Amino acid sequence: MQTLPVIDPPSLAIAGGAARFPVRRVYCVGRNYADHAKEMGASGREPPFFFFKPADALFNVAAGATQDWPYPTLTQDLHHEVELVVAIGRGGRDITPDQAIDHIWGYAIGLDMTRRDLQAQMKKEAKPWCIGKGFDHGAPIGPLVPREVTGEIVSGPIQLEVNGERRQTGDISDMIWNIREVIAHISKAWELKPGDLIFTGTPAGVGAVKRGDVLSVEATQVGGFSIRVV
Ligand code: MN
Repeated sequence: MQTLPVIDPPSLAIAGGAARFPVRRVYCVGRNYADHAKEMGASGREPPFFFFKPADALFNVAAGATQDWPYPTLTQDLHHEVELVVAIGRGGRDITPDQAIDHIWGYAIGLDMTRRDLQAQMKKEAKPWCIGKGFDHGAPIGPLVPREVTGEIVSGPIQLEVNGERRQTGDISDMIWNIREVIAHISKAWELKPGDLIFTGTPAGVGAVKRGDVLSVEATQVGGFSIRVV
């Protein structure tokens, strides 16, 4: 038989440990903060909607580190979206908001990097967004912090700076659909399984970055990291 290819299954670093969290799927919530929904032209109160990033688009960044991150191909308008990320440790279908907490393994801070020009073009043509959202390295993410360390995260600041200047500021409690409700919604459409991640949406202030910019992100309970766009 021909030699089989060898691949590295996607995984996340875990804060304060050598073990890694295996990643199955990466769900993303669109427009989950009213002020960002408005800046994208929505009313701010539409039902949640979801898209995926490939699991191997995750780009692990060490806590507190500044790591080089490659500017992607094809775009002239690369946007940052800082987001709290939830890791699922226990799967299920039709999970209720009451039950949802038992399914959360931990939290991380991540960036839903977006080739906005390509996304906008595809929207205009009523085509899928994949090329705008699902590109290589398109999901920088910090170490996963276990829920036994953070407790349930329901409020607290989330923010992003570009070259030391604040661009995005929000509070986890400003989500239109809170994390428990997001888990409930997703589990109606798909069976959640251990290893699934959910990017829970971004507050207002998204904008373009260029090579040489340093993006620094931070959120309550999960710390922060920086990337230099190269
Ligand atoms: Mn996003």
